[in-house]
Amino acid sequence: MNIIFGPVNSRRFGKSLGIDLSPSKKQCNFDCLYCELAPAKTMDSYEDVVSIQEIMHALNSTLGEHQDIDALTVTANGEPTLYPHLSELMDEINEVKGSIKTLILSNAANIHEPKIQEALQKFDTVKLSLDCATGRCLKRLDRAHTGIDVEEIKAGMLSFKEKFSKPLIIEILIVKGVNDGDDEIKALNEYLLTLKPTRIDIGTIDRPPAYYVEPLAYEDLRDISLKFDSSLPVYIASRKTVTGEPSSYSDDDIIETIKKRPLTLDDVEVLFDDESKERLKRLVTEKVIETENCAGYDFFVHN
Ligand code: SF4
Repeated sequence: MNIIFGPVNSRRFGKSLGIDLSPSKKQCNFDCLYCELAPAKTMDSYEDVVSIQEIMHALNSTLGEHQDIDALTVTANGEPTLYPHLSELMDEINEVKGSIKTLILSNAANIHEPKIQEALQKFDTVKLSLDCATGRCLKRLDRAHTGIDVEEIKAGMLSFKEKFSKPLIIEILIVKGVNDGDDEIKALNEYLLTLKPTRIDIGTIDRPPAYYVEPLAYEDLRDISLKFDSSLPVYIASRKTVTGEPSSYSDDDIIETIKKRPLTLDDVEVLFDDESKERLKRLVTEKVIETENCAGYDFFVHN
């Protein structure tokens, strides 16, 4: 059983380790169409539970081998907040982690529960999925376990956000023909304007999915990102499906584009040709365009 995976190096997090709270099999309260794990029946509690001692033993021995870890990501083959001892586990991790930053990736299905909120508060960064703002979409795309209600998820996120002052990132995975329609994006936008998360990552299917569903091209994700209010820091997280060539942007084009939607360096890499990148660099030096950091990503903004 591999409880710890990594370390992996990333530009943003540095050297990071993952902790898998469900190493034996998929245990999840969703069965998403796009899941990279095989389809499985949903559940509302883990059937196989690894002890805190086993996890800490594996973590301490890996930390002993790698003294330069920057980040620890708590995740699972499934949903990590279904792990019944998450809060106690975080107490133990926080005892030993020193300056290492902790992150959890959760589908937020149970975020309304006080004990889940208590556990999540013990992380440095919380990343929650929100693919749908309507019950119809949740049922079709995330195929949630009986009793999971999208309104409860949205209310739970709002109450958690009130108590959590550290970075809260929302991840929206968009699937062609399922949650890419105007009505769903409008409902997500309205809700996110109320939630005001630190950052919103929109992505699409990057790995072979559990069911037959299709990804969107980068250009479609970019069109969708423009439908969100320009005050929301939307980051396009999938770039594998770029089809277009980089374009030339004049000073005015750059300013107008960034006014509509702040861009990240990754967006600029995809959209701008070399001369336009130089123009942007100059506009930053002249302070016409500024940069703002949203939980690890620099956005180019026009204030
Ligand atoms: S929440 Fe994550 S693990 Fe669970 S089914 Fe969806 S993608 Fe798979």
